[in-house]
Amino acid sequence: MCGIVAYVGEKNAYEILIKGLKRLEYRGYDSAGVAMISNNHEFLHYKCKGKVSNLEEHVGQQSVDAHIGIGHTRWATHGPANDVNAHPHLSGNEELALIHNGIIENYDVLKKELTSRGHNFVSDTDTEVLVHLIEEVKKQEDVGLFEAVRLALHQVTGAYAIVVIDKSNPRELIAAKKSSPLVIGMGEDDFFIGSDATPIVEYTNNVVYLEDGEIAHISLDTGLKIRKLDNKVITPTIQELQIQLEALEKGGYEHFMLKEIFEQPKTIKDCMRGRISAQKGHVSLGGILDYQDKILNARRMIIIACGTSWHAGLVGEYLLEDLARIPVEVEYASEFRYRNPVIYEDDVVLAISQSGETADTLAAIKLAKEKGATILGICNVVGSTISRETHAGSYTHAGPEIGVASTKAFTAQVTVLSLLALMLAKRKGTVEKSRLNRLLFELESIPDKVTEALKTDAACELISEIYKNSSNALYLGRGYSFPVALEGALKLKEISYIHAEGYPAAEMKHGPIALIDEEMPVFVVATKGPSYEKVISNIQEVKARKGKVIVISTKGDEYIKEMADHYIEIPETEEMFMPILATIPFQLLSYHMAVMRGCNVDQPRNLAKAVTVE
Ligand code: GLU
Repeated sequence: MCGIVAYVGEKNAYEILIKGLKRLEYRGYDSAGVAMISNNHEFLHYKCKGKVSNLEEHVGQQSVDAHIGIGHTRWATHGPANDVNAHPHLSGNEELALIHNGIIENYDVLKKELTSRGHNFVSDTDTEVLVHLIEEVKKQEDVGLFEAVRLALHQVTGAYAIVVIDKSNPRELIAAKKSSPLVIGMGEDDFFIGSDATPIVEYTNNVVYLEDGEIAHISLDTGLKIRKLDNKVITPTIQELQIQLEALEKGGYEHFMLKEIFEQPKTIKDCMRGRISAQKGHVSLGGILDYQDKILNARRMIIIACGTSWHAGLVGEYLLEDLARIPVEVEYASEFRYRNPVIYEDDVVLAISQSGETADTLAAIKLAKEKGATILGICNVVGSTISRETHAGSYTHAGPEIGVASTKAFTAQVTVLSLLALMLAKRKGTVEKSRLNRLLFELESIPDKVTEALKTDAACELISEIYKNSSNALYLGRGYSFPVALEGALKLKEISYIHAEGYPAAEMKHGPIALIDEEMPVFVVATKGPSYEKVISNIQEVKARKGKVIVISTKGDEYIKEMADHYIEIPETEEMFMPILATIPFQLLSYHMAVMRGCNVDQPRNLAKAVTVE
C-alpha cells in the first residue's frame, strides 16, 4: 500500500522526492525514506519511522545534493514500523538501493537460501530479501542491473512495484511491476516514477503506465525501454494526464476530508455531466452503453468491492433490482475470491473501487474473467489497474480523493450506480416513462440538495460536541438507508476510533438492543419514505431503553423532532437517492468528532487509502 517515487535528471532529486512522498502519503505513513546517489557516487540514504515531515526533520542539514533518487512512504506488512524496516533497503554490498510496494510471498524461502550463501539481513521486511536477491543474481550471472532484476524476478512470487538504483550508475533507474501500480513520467530530459501520477503531474503530463510483468529501463542516455519478464520488447504507450494540480491541494480547508465533503455538490455534478438530461429524457453511461443488453440478458450481476465501495455496491443492489429488475448479489472481494464461487459465463461482474488498485477486488475480477464472465468497473482514478482490467466501465470523475476516509468517492459511486440503474430501466422498460422522467429530474437536482444538506454542518458540530467522548455508537437505517447506516458507522470508526456498528433498524431487536443504555448514542436515518413508520417504532424501542436518539430527518418533520434527542434535517428526495443526502451529515459528524478527539483525520492510524495488499 506504500507510496513510491523516483527521479533521474538535472533537477534536485530530494525536493522532488519529498514533495512526491507528501502527495503519496495517503497510501501509507508509518515510516519514510529516500536514497539518492551523490555526485561522488555515494548513497545519501535517510530513513526513519513516522511521517514524511519526520523524515525531513531527520535529514535536517545533511547533504541532499543529488540528481537521482528513490523515495518511499511505508505501510508495514512485514515487520513493525521502525527506522530499520523503513525503505529504501540496501543490498549487502551497499551497491544497490530498492523501494518496494507489495508483498514478496516466498521471502522466507529466498531469505534462507540467501542466508546460506552468506547474506546478512538487518530488517524484518520481505523487501530486503529482494534487493539481496538482485545483488546475488547480478554477481552470479555477471550481468547489468536491468538483467539482474529481470532474472531475479523469475524467482519471486507475490506482488510488487519496485524501483532499484545502482550507486555506480547515477543515470539509470530500473522499475518493475506486478499487481502494484507504477506510473512513469516522461519529462523533457528527465524521468519520474510514482505509485500514481500525483507526484508527477507538476512536472509533466506525459506518462506511461507500466503493466504487470513489465520491467522498465530508464536511462538518461538511452531513454525509456520496456521489456516483459520473458525479455519480449514492449513499445511504451504515452498517455496524457488529466489531473489538475489544484485538486491535490487543501484549498483553504483545514483537512482534505473536509474539503472533499464540501466538494460533493460539484463532484456529483461532474459525475453526471453529459450522462443525464431530464429535459430530453436522456440517461446514458458512455462507457457501459454497448454492454446494456449483455447486462439485461445476464443471469445475474455480481457487485464486488471492499469497504466504503462495498456500501455503495449495496445501494447499487437496491437500485438495480428496484428499477431495472436485475438480480444482484453484492460480495466482499476478499471473501468472493477465496471461496470457490460459482461464476457463469453469462454473469456480469461489476467491480467498484475508488483507487482502482484494491488488491482483493483486482484478484476477484481476474478470477471472474478467467471463468468467462463479463467484467465492468466503476473507478475514480483514471488509468488505474482495475479500469484497465475490465471490459468496460465508468469513471466517477470525483477528482483525486486524498483523505483516507472516503467521502466524495462514495457519493459519486452511488451517483454512477443510479445512472446505471436508470439507463437499464429505460432500456428494459421496467419503469413507466413519466416516473422515469420524474426520477431523472430528481437526480439532476441532487447536487443542489447536497448543498442544502451541507448546511447541517453547524448542527453536526454541536451534536459532535455532546457525543465526542462516547465509546460506542449504533447506526440504524432501513431499505436504501441501511447501507447509509453501515457507511456512517464505518466513517466514525475509521477516523475517530469510536466503536460503531451499522445495522438494519429491524435487526436491532436480534442482538444490538442489548447494548442500549443511557450512554449509547443511536444515529437513525428516519427520512420520509416507505419505511418511515417502521423506523419510528424502532426509535421508540431505543428510547424505551434510555438510548440517545440522533435522527436524520426530512426537513419540516415536526413529529420526529419531538421524539428525537437531536435531529438533523435534510431535504426531501426520492427514497432511492436518499443515500447520497443522508450520508452527508454522517460524514460531518465523524469529521467533527474526530477533530474534537484530536485524531489525525486525513491519515487515521493503521489505515491507508489504496489497499494494494490482500
Ligand atoms: N512489504 C513491504 C514492507 O512491509 C512493503 C509494504 C508496502 O507496500 O508499504 O516493508
